[in-house]
Amino acid sequence: MNNFSIRDDVWKAVAEFRLPPTLWFGLVAAPAMYSARFENGRWGRGELVPYGPIEMLPGARALHFAEQVFEGMKAYRVGRPNANLFRAADNYARFRRSAERIAMTPVPEALFFEGIEAVVGVCTPFVPDHSGQSLYVRPFLFGTEPGYAVRASTSARFMVIANPSEAYAAGAMKVMIERDQVRAAVGGVGRAKTGANYAASLLASTRAVQSGYTVALWLDPNTRRNIEELSGMNLFAVIGGELHTPALNDSILPGVTRDSLIALAHDAGRRVVERAMPIADLLQQVSSGECSEVFACGTAAIVCPISVIGDADGREYRPAVIDQEARALRERLLAIQERRAPDPHGWIREVAPLVRSG
Ligand SMILES: *Cc1c(COP(=O)(O)O)cnc(C)c1O
Repeated sequence: MNNFSIRDDVWKAVAEFRLPPTLWFGLVAAPAMYSARFENGRWGRGELVPYGPIEMLPGARALHFAEQVFEGMKAYRVGRPNANLFRAADNYARFRRSAERIAMTPVPEALFFEGIEAVVGVCTPFVPDHSGQSLYVRPFLFGTEPGYAVRASTSARFMVIANPSEAYAAGAMKVMIERDQVRAAVGGVGRAKTGANYAASLLASTRAVQSGYTVALWLDPNTRRNIEELSGMNLFAVIGGELHTPALNDSILPGVTRDSLIALAHDAGRRVVERAMPIADLLQQVSSGECSEVFACGTAAIVCPISVIGDADGREYRPAVIDQEARALRERLLAIQERRAPDPHGWIREVAPLVRSG
């Protein structure tokens, strides 16, 4: 017996849904979504409904104060009847911390998993099953109370939507160092997964794209000397044969993929150096060849090589090796995610399909 209700028209939406031949990343909406409301100090009963427009008051704080946090995770189903999530408990822990950082009432863990498992369960037939493909799952929480009082919203909505997707394929990325703007402030919300950080990044990212790059590379807001991350991915460099990555701080988003790569490297007996990484040093090390390879990681793209680092003065730095360490790590991680390799860290959570009863 479910705690949530299933609207009758969900079954029709699910029965009529067909996976299109081309999925891309995040462009195809799964036919069902989950929604639960927080009102008068308590969470109401969740509901599984067909994917479609939602109604909210135009004064809702999410639209005015960016009172919004989200997560991104993937469900895989390669060669198996049931879908499985990857490190969903870590996504929940971060979702909770993100909500707390912007004074929102966190979603209880049971409700979070109810929503995720309802959507993944009912969409199990639409979890694409070729290697690299997945159902991208997007839980999010937003403030719905209207009005401009500067305090946390007393009402909120938790939703889960999903997208059958290909691996986010950016190919080898060209990144542009952003010397002027910052993505996140000292003491700000950079460590929280909130849309506000993306808003702050869009102008530089748009300019980077207009100049022929894939995305901006952010420096720390305090000194503008140290590398932080890309707009939605963490960064690694292979220096003297060792893996280096910026140490986490207040303005870096602690990626689950970043943490997973560190664990995989440790499993293989390799050292990972987490430290402040001055951009000047990295550029010099790329030029000298001491830094052989640079790559980024995140749930969407998994592990993605970087072929060019562009600077504001027009200079470009090209690591000698593209996609060697990155590829090895990507394949090891994907093998665990797709359950072709053992799961020594207990990262996999299987989801039972949700089918119509009676
Ligand atoms: C989500 C995100 C990442 C990557 O985190 P994963 O948990 O690995 O997907 C990195 N940076 C930012 C700013 C993000 O929003």
